[in-house]
Amino acid sequence: MSKVILITGGSRGIGRAAAIQAGTRGWSVAVNYATNASAAHDTVARIESAGGKAIAIQADVTDESAVIAMFDATQAAFGPIDGFVNNAGIVAPGAALADMDLARLKRVFDTNVLGAYLGAREAARRMSVTRGGKGGSIVNLSSAAARLGAPNEYVDYAGSKGAIDTLTIGLSKELGPQGVRVNAIRPGLIDTEIHASGGKPDRAAVLGVQTPLGRPGSADEVGEAIVWLLSDASSYVTGAIIDVTGGR
Ligand code: NAP
Repeated sequence: MSKVILITGGSRGIGRAAAIQAGTRGWSVAVNYATNASAAHDTVARIESAGGKAIAIQADVTDESAVIAMFDATQAAFGPIDGFVNNAGIVAPGAALADMDLARLKRVFDTNVLGAYLGAREAARRMSVTRGGKGGSIVNLSSAAARLGAPNEYVDYAGSKGAIDTLTIGLSKELGPQGVRVNAIRPGLIDTEIHASGGKPDRAAVLGVQTPLGRPGSADEVGEAIVWLLSDASSYVTGAIIDVTGGR
């Protein structure tokens, strides 16, 4: 059955992989991005050539009115939303907590926590059956860092992802009776550009060899898990936090 999916940060990395896989199923995909319009338009073209319909929507997930407008634009283009992927996330350069300034902490928590909560709230408002929605699936992107802590690197990021795990547990209980499943994926060391934005472009390759599977993961391998959670194949799965970490 065709679905309407909105993916924050769907323009690059893990979000893009999930978006293209959703397109391969013939689903309609709204690809959100913050600043890189050309990556978003390239992703839209790939979704269309994979067989799906797609639009690109610029919105900073920390901006409440932009988040609301993003959901409105998705519904205007494709109709009611079946799935929401809370994927946009950032890291800052590796540092000990003692060396992190307020601006950095605010940026990380605003994007990864506030942005995810705003997106989940909007999805809950639109998908809950007692609010006129038709139910659906929310997939939150956490991280293995939530349980590893990322000492001397990103304890801010790790804590922001701990909040995503907690959101997933609580919201799955709130929204189960509303016909909405809520799950999270905890990726491990995945080969995307996020590591370059944290100052270590080869981080996944270098650390990936130490995982039990001996290599970093690909964005496509995480995308598979996301699309499965969006699909009806996972119809009895909610409140789950699934590690895609190569055993890390
Ligand atoms: P990425 O390659 O850096 O891509 C990030 C995406 O998020 C881009 O599409 C970016 O859009 C968008 N974005 C960033 N800030 C945004 C904002 N304020 N508003 C809207 N969109 C925003 O990241 P990734 O590696 O695919 O990571 C995706 C998710 O998986 C994140 O939540 C991350 O924490 C999580 N994760 C990743 C790994 C890993 O190893 N890669 C591991 C664990 C968890 P622009 O291009 O326009 O900036």
